[in-house]
Amino acid sequence: MEKILEDIIVSNEHLKNRGSLADYIPALGRVDPNKIGISLADIDGNIYRAGDWDHKFTIQSISKVLSLMLAIMDNGEENVFKRVDYEATEEPFNTMFKLDFPQTLKPANPMINAGAIVTTSLIKGEDKFARILDFYRKISGNKDLDYNREVYVSEKKTGDKNRSIAYLMKARGFIEGDVDRILDVYFKQCSIEVNTLDLAKIGLFIADRSDLNTNQIKKLTTAIMASSGMYNFSGKYAVEVGVPSKSGVGGGIVATLPNKMGIGVYSPVLDEYGNSSVGFGIMKDLEKSLTLSIY
Ligand code: GLN
Repeated sequence: MEKILEDIIVSNEHLKNRGSLADYIPALGRVDPNKIGISLADIDGNIYRAGDWDHKFTIQSISKVLSLMLAIMDNGEENVFKRVDYEATEEPFNTMFKLDFPQTLKPANPMINAGAIVTTSLIKGEDKFARILDFYRKISGNKDLDYNREVYVSEKKTGDKNRSIAYLMKARGFIEGDVDRILDVYFKQCSIEVNTLDLAKIGLFIADRSDLNTNQIKKLTTAIMASSGMYNFSGKYAVEVGVPSKSGVGGGIVATLPNKMGIGVYSPVLDEYGNSSVGFGIMKDLEKSLTLSIY
């Protein structure tokens, strides 16, 4: 298996020339564009790794998946989806288009920034970030997970688009509370550092349906990943890969195959949608070699 993974890395390496780093967050513009890693963790406890599987990077938008789960655990499904829809959108991840339309009453889905700022705002507790980090540590089995201060400060300094989105949503009554505090948690959660094995274990946690109490949350989270996890590329990704996945502008992709396995992939060069160029190629080849599509 590890040989298959290594071959897949070699045949997709050239895609790192297609696209660019997420330099709208200056610290992300300084990462090494050549790192490529893959990890797979299956339901029987097997782990397979290749390339720079243990290279650390920031989780970015992949955090949206876990914030959604925490928000539902804290508030219940109905209360969360009163405030954020679960409809795919053709707009990019950082859109604020339509947020000020009179007929818009909530963001399109929890995988775009606006929707994720809503779910983060709904997480309960005095120290929301401590709860989030604790949750990540628990489900990845990695108690050393922490956030990257440099990336956090860099995004906080330059995060005016997210600030605009959040203040507009506050003005329209979509979120409640102190906007800067909510954004601070959002920027920190995006800066949590992981490697591909951590992602594979997060994917496996969502794939593992042996705990009846969390099945419904995992089922709906997986469906939202499948319909919106790769932003406005989700339709094509469903056809070409067919594995519920979530990407982040740090270059990571987490994929989850219900009752089977979790996959973590990393390469920081992004395509026009903000998805890892090499990562997409790797996912396509993994699907072909291991027949992974759920459709
Ligand atoms: N922190 C990033 C942002 O808010 C996350 C976006 C992403 O990974 N697509 O812009």
